[in-house]
Amino acid sequence: MSTKLTTRLPLRTLSSLTRVGACQRFAFKPVQQQSSVRCFWRSTPAPPAAHAQPEHIVHHATENQLDGKPAKHVTVTIDGNPRIFDAVFLRDSCTCPQCVDPDSKQKLFQTSDIPQNLQALCRTVQDKAKGCMVELQWDTDVPGYGPDHRTRHSTDWLRRALNTELELRGGVRNDERVLWNREKITKNNKWVDYGKYMAEDEALFDALSHLNKYGLLFLKGVPESEESVVNIAGRIGTLKDTFYGRTWDVKSKPNAENIAYTQHFLGLHMDLLYTSNPPYLQLLHSIRARAPRGESFFSDSFHAAHTLQSQSSSHFRTLCTFPVTYHYHHPNYHYHFTRPTIELFPYPKYSEPTNVAIKHVNWSPPFQGPFEARIGGEKQTALRNYLAAAHAYERLLSAEENLYEYRLEEGECVIFDNRRVLHARRSFDASKGERWLKGAYVDDDVFFSRLRVLQEKYEGKWTAEGVVRYAIA
Ligand SMILES: [Zn+2]
Repeated sequence: MSTKLTTRLPLRTLSSLTRVGACQRFAFKPVQQQSSVRCFWRSTPAPPAAHAQPEHIVHHATENQLDGKPAKHVTVTIDGNPRIFDAVFLRDSCTCPQCVDPDSKQKLFQTSDIPQNLQALCRTVQDKAKGCMVELQWDTDVPGYGPDHRTRHSTDWLRRALNTELELRGGVRNDERVLWNREKITKNNKWVDYGKYMAEDEALFDALSHLNKYGLLFLKGVPESEESVVNIAGRIGTLKDTFYGRTWDVKSKPNAENIAYTQHFLGLHMDLLYTSNPPYLQLLHSIRARAPRGESFFSDSFHAAHTLQSQSSSHFRTLCTFPVTYHYHHPNYHYHFTRPTIELFPYPKYSEPTNVAIKHVNWSPPFQGPFEARIGGEKQTALRNYLAAAHAYERLLSAEENLYEYRLEEGECVIFDNRRVLHARRSFDASKGERWLKGAYVDDDVFFSRLRVLQEKYEGKWTAEGVVRYAIA
């Protein structure tokens, strides 16, 4: 079903890629002369007139080799430029039925099965469906493969493999996240009807895309049932189970083991930072909202981090490096994890402040444990530096103009990115009525898997590790 959509997409070319400034530094270097770069030209059937284009496999011009000998590298002309591929890459990515099981899509050989002296013979062929393709025949193939084994890669696929590699190497990040303050989120907030969200894939795609951009989404018309939050989360994928349960209740109760289960004010925080992989999405369905007050409020920690960086790069740096310990220390559970406040993607050289790619923010004051490293001594300034940075960051997080406040009514559900959007609650009067939220979590892998399936279905492309991948016809 996605094929029809994807075949209409214009092909993305290397020339369009190199418009990305960050890539320029990483443009392909001139080909090194190596004895291993021995490519050859075989007689190629003339392409149909409609596909008239330059030859796709070239021999190395200066080596003048037309000898048809196997080589460790293959040069393919893509969009007029010679591009060199290691035969190992071409062999390893073979998708023929001998190499990849057509049903399970699992690989049937190991990369480590490929002989280290692998060489390829190649020619171009025209495939009715896939256009121009490179066909490779292997010299010293993986043991067990006969002389008839052929690997085919379309020029489109090779072009996209290069694009992806270039973008990954260049640190290019496709980041759709829209940072917000109160004014922006008030203008752009999205409410989705529960019925549509549950029944229509396109509505789900729209909702999850919005959630990906803003980290915040609201549903209305949610049935009064303890199963509703399971249904909403289940539409994305498997729920994340924790020691709080697969779903959990936020109600006030006496001698609560967690401040969330009281009627007290609960400041801006994230959940479960004392675990190694805190939940990505948090869902809260309001089943009862009859106690006065108890408004929820939210703050975009990424927006505050970017603002902090523009105000003080040293505070920003401190929050990227100073270790903060979180814990949940009770008789039957003892969780403990230390992390800096701001985690960046591990890409080099972010010269422009606006290009800082934040991976996660970790901010959960109620669940902090004692600091363990850099606790401060006579001449140590790290803790004082952290305190100053934490002051500055907290001021930004809780600034009136950055907060979005909303009191969830019965039949409404909020979904937010727990690694980005901080949540909080004003105190409420439990003696005057019932307040009951039903909660659930979903992991990042689960969310992005669903989003990619929908992106591929509706847009013919999808994103992983910050790089856009285009579906291939
Ligand atoms: Zn194969």
